[in-house]
Amino acid sequence: MTREKIHETLSGYDKKDLKIATICSHTALQIFHGARQEGIKTIGICTENRRKVYEAFPLGCPDEFIIVDDLRNIPSDELLEKNALLVPHGSLVEYSGDLSEIKVPMIGNRESLSWEKDREKMFEWLTASGLQVPATNEPDKIDRPCVVKLAGAKGGRGYRVVNSPDEFYEHFEGMNVTVQEYLIGVRVYPHYFYSPLSHEGYRASEGKLELMGIDRRFESNIDEAYRTEKVGLSFTPSFTVVGNELLVVRESLLEEIMKMGKNVTESADRLFGGIPGPFCLETVCDENLQFFAFEVSARIVAGTNIYPLGSPYTAYLYDEPMSMGRRIAREIKLAAKANKWQKIIY
Ligand code: ATP
Repeated sequence: MTREKIHETLSGYDKKDLKIATICSHTALQIFHGARQEGIKTIGICTENRRKVYEAFPLGCPDEFIIVDDLRNIPSDELLEKNALLVPHGSLVEYSGDLSEIKVPMIGNRESLSWEKDREKMFEWLTASGLQVPATNEPDKIDRPCVVKLAGAKGGRGYRVVNSPDEFYEHFEGMNVTVQEYLIGVRVYPHYFYSPLSHEGYRASEGKLELMGIDRRFESNIDEAYRTEKVGLSFTPSFTVVGNELLVVRESLLEEIMKMGKNVTESADRLFGGIPGPFCLETVCDENLQFFAFEVSARIVAGTNIYPLGSPYTAYLYDEPMSMGRRIAREIKLAAKANKWQKIIY
């Protein structure tokens, strides 16, 4: 689907009847809740068994469901008929094979999602942004603790730390993985929103950058290691994401956090035509207060679910509760007002 084709589709939409659609998973409650706050109708793509989960939270429930057998099947024709704009989130990126094939207009630049999905391209993007990144190793050269990562956005599932080539081959022989130096420090995951439509605030590229929040993840079993060890059990550390917790950083770190976001925005412009909308960096801040980035997510991340009514940072940006979900819906309204759809949709 070319950009031109998507914009042609969009020009046929009834702009007074636009709807926000997403897969019922990941950050869907927040996306529906935020759209409702902004007065935009929503569509949830859902399996029958999940429907009752969303109905259990009336303010985060979509206005209508499209029931599918499998979340990998995006009902494009039905969405197009309903003037839907698709919000991509982590589950959509993981489930929906080739995103470039989806016929429904997406909020943001879908090209950025292919840069997130391919680890080599993602590192090219991070390095082009001037960020410090962990060293990546050939399996035969492992001489220190390294995290071995499976391909795709798996929420850390199946990852393992290995200390030698032997240990690597014992667990990952023949598998498609990345071997990355284990970073020591505090994990800091800032959530950004880049708007090309506004020129006030913290300038980045042709628009402005907002820091919408920061989180840290809770991963099993590593994040409860002290308890496990206390009761005398030994265990192999694993990194499966279970949840997220709020993080506020010392204020002097904000300068670097904003700078990293700005650099990522501007290199996205050069590499693939920009990253309008939400994105997140996964970083580790070490004892010298140096940041190392090991991942960039080119869309809304689950860590934003901590802040459905705003974060300790949006409190200084908005005089009203502002979640990332609501911010996305607000951007649609701003684009409508300025008639600048092409800047935020592909
Ligand atoms: P998602 O796409 O959901 O973000 P993922 O499967 O791509 O997840 P990562 O985010 O790369 O996985 O890593 C999962 C977790 O593993 C991180 O949250 C972090 O705790 C740990 N981790 C990853 N890389 C490193 C590293 N280089 N050093 C230390 N810890 C790491």
